[in-house]
Amino acid sequence: MAVRVLKHQKRCKFCAAAKSAEVNLVLERVRNGDIGRVAALVEIEALGVVRPSIENIKSHFYGKTPHVEVIPDEVVQEENAQRAEIVRKIGTGEIEMADLDEGLRFLATVYLEQQRDKYADGKDLGLTHDHFLKLVGESTKRKTNDAQAKLLDALGGGIGMVFEKALRDAPHAPAIEAGDVIDADVTEVIEDA
Ligand SMILES: [Zn+2]
Repeated sequence: MAVRVLKHQKRCKFCAAAKSAEVNLVLERVRNGDIGRVAALVEIEALGVVRPSIENIKSHFYGKTPHVEVIPDEVVQEENAQRAEIVRKIGTGEIEMADLDEGLRFLATVYLEQQRDKYADGKDLGLTHDHFLKLVGESTKRKTNDAQAKLLDALGGGIGMVFEKALRDAPHAPAIEAGDVIDADVTEVIEDA
């Protein structure tokens, strides 16, 4: 039996319990009818939860939005096998490594599509003036970054070309001969008359 956290609630005694996993397993025994709620409360208190109540059990385990769900071992094993299979396929190349830009575009498209549906259904997207300004700012920043990247690329290319040319020309360049040594004695100081 494994416990999956659905919605951790800081103010819930059972979610916040140091031995939360054990508490959930006690509650699962309540659901199975192995023990009653009062007996469960005694066990839960022994696990370090101060004054647990039936109300705590209800909201944590049986509420409209329970905080956890208990999953049978077979389901856990099946899920683990699926994950292991994905990892194996990435290793063998059966699944290609994701292209980050492509992935971001995909997620952005799904997200925007969902937002469009919500908006079309008459739901408020909660957009504020701040959101708008932030979007404008991000857009401007991105354009500046793109321009900088292009400049650096061009500059990098230019420097590369200079080095390439130098390397290409090097074997044909005339050997540097020892220059004439200028004898200091030869140098005359012309004085103005
Ligand atoms: Zn809880």
